[in-house]
Amino acid sequence: MSLLSGYEHIVRENEPLAPFTRLKIGGTAEYFAEPTNEEELTGLVKQFSEANQPVRLIGSGTNLLINDTGVKGLVIHLAAPDFCTIAVNENRITVGGGTRLSHFVATAVREGLAGPEQLVGLPGTIGGALHNNTDAHGVDIGSWVESAEVLTRAGERITREKDSLSFSYRQSSLSELVILKAEFVLEREPAENLTKAMQKLWIVRRSQQPSSELQAAYMFKDLGGEQAGDLIERAGLKGTRAGKVELLDSDPNFFVAESGATSEDVLSLLKTVQTQVSERLEQTLEPAIQIW
Ligand SMILES: Cc1cc2nc3c(=O)[nH]c(=O)nc-3n(C[C@H](O)[C@H](O)[C@H](O)COP(=O)(O)OP(=O)(O)OC[C@H]3O[C@@H](n4cnc5c(N)ncnc54)[C@H](O)[C@@H]3O)c2cc1C
Repeated sequence: MSLLSGYEHIVRENEPLAPFTRLKIGGTAEYFAEPTNEEELTGLVKQFSEANQPVRLIGSGTNLLINDTGVKGLVIHLAAPDFCTIAVNENRITVGGGTRLSHFVATAVREGLAGPEQLVGLPGTIGGALHNNTDAHGVDIGSWVESAEVLTRAGERITREKDSLSFSYRQSSLSELVILKAEFVLEREPAENLTKAMQKLWIVRRSQQPSSELQAAYMFKDLGGEQAGDLIERAGLKGTRAGKVELLDSDPNFFVAESGATSEDVLSLLKTVQTQVSERLEQTLEPAIQIW
């Protein structure tokens, strides 16, 4: 039986990954699949795992740097409607792993459920956000999780309950291959109050973040209570660039790439920033972005 047997209709070979990332950089995936339902997803994962092929998940690609040489094995994208669901039941929201974070935020606000409005304007999917425990304004997505449905590398579907989960700064114990869906329990608050709070936060975030048309990445984790961007600025690195990638002037923790930039450009700038911050401030910056 061939590796793709039975899944030829959903798997593409040598698929360029750059269009699936915010940096728009990187080579191809040896195999790339957009399964249409959970059955297809599970079968595919089992088939590739049994053949000892690497399998990875990609969300909106806003926290990924893909090497120009590409990646071996299978990359799965949960774009089909079955993975992008959202359902509200009183103060509980159940959200599919492929659902946009922005959809979750808007739904919670509309339903008068507090907390997610703090994440307004952040790019990404629920799966990516839970994998990284996305946070903003000291609020992290993991704090509202009641349970999560996941698929293991062996293709087994399990439920992770709140008491078996741990979330810390940009880290989560949801380390299984696929986060299929998650249930969040939220506090009630009038939708008008949440809408106002969200609008204010949105204005602030828009002024701090690179505009959505820019090829950008949020590069380093904050350190010891200090924002990575402030450390980079204190090290005198504003304006630094490597090839076609430069630091964003308003927040140098964002790397911004021009068309034609390479993964080498990003890695070279990353190294320069790390080295200079270490030499000048004796601090070690750790990448927030995942490198494939
Ligand atoms: C402009 C900008 C601003 C940002 N601001 C912030 C911020 O304020 N706070 C913050 O925390 N982050 C921030 N980020 C980083 C990023 O947006 C978040 O971490 C986001 O939640 C990642 O989601 P994604 O879908 O893009 O994940 P991806 O980049 O696609 O993937 C990230 C990781 O999650 C895994 N993954 C994705 N989907 C699944 C799934 N369904 N199941 C299992 N694993 C999965 C991937 O395998 C990968 O390891 C910012 C990024 C940008 C570009």
